[in-house]
Amino acid sequence: MSDDLFLKIIAREIPADIVYENDDVLAFRDVNPQAPLHVLIIPKAHIRTINDMRAEDTELFGKLFLAASEIAAEHGVAKDGYRVVMNCNSAAGQTVFHVHLHLLGGRELGWPPG
Ligand code: 5GP
Repeated sequence: MSDDLFLKIIAREIPADIVYENDDVLAFRDVNPQAPLHVLIIPKAHIRTINDMRAEDTELFGKLFLAASEIAAEHGVAKDGYRVVMNCNSAAGQTVFHVHLHLLGGRELGWPPG
């Protein structure tokens, strides 16, 4: 857990541009944005990957999507559209092992993703 970068952001040990917070969820701008709006939405609980999700985490994961919907609306991308994606392990490109939803918006997004 000590190597969990996002726990350090939750604890304010590392600065971040925070756009949303409640008791369970934190969201902040990605340091290397891939779209005009690129926000990372994380649970405050330490969960490494989707593979570590337990049945009792179902509501918590739902709260990540609820936050995505609220942030998209607040930043004006809800109507045009946006993407949420969660990478799992190395083949998908996960580099930070604390689950996070990427919220990408503000431009046309190609499909399929790379
Ligand atoms: P992953 O590749 O694990 O799905 O996504 C990790 C994301 O975290 C990347 O998009 C990367 O730019 C972002 N990131 C890595 N370190 C930091 C940091 O210290 N602060 C912020 N705000 N984003 C970070």
